Amino acid sequence: MADITIHQCQCSACVGGEEHPDRHLHHTINLLLSRLNEQQRRWLAALESQKVGHGGDKLLSEITGLHPDTIRRGREELDADLQDRPTDRIRKPGGGRPPLSKKIRNSSRR
Ligand SMILES: [Zn+2]
Repeated sequence: MADITIHQCQCSACVGGEEHPDRHLHHTINLLLSRLNEQQRRWLAALESQKVGHGGDKLLSEITGLHPDTIRRGREELDADLQDRPTDRIRKPGGGRPPLSKKIRNSSRR
């Protein structure tokens, strides 16, 4: 996964190539999104959309390439304090790195 593609902002100002104050922000949002998992991307876009207010979902959809419905869903999840969302990422139980203590025990056995 050395080759992470960063989404190019599709908002009219960025596409038109004009220098505008939010260009860097839009790029940074997409940069962050490229490193987040699916639900985290949704929440970040939702947060930025909330800051924009009216029309935020549409704008963030242009910036991030996420569907406006996805961003709206992210806002709803944020509004609900992420109650229904698992706290442990997308990883399956037992997957990924073993806890540090376990690792130490294992290596001392060798
Ligand atoms: Zn833009």
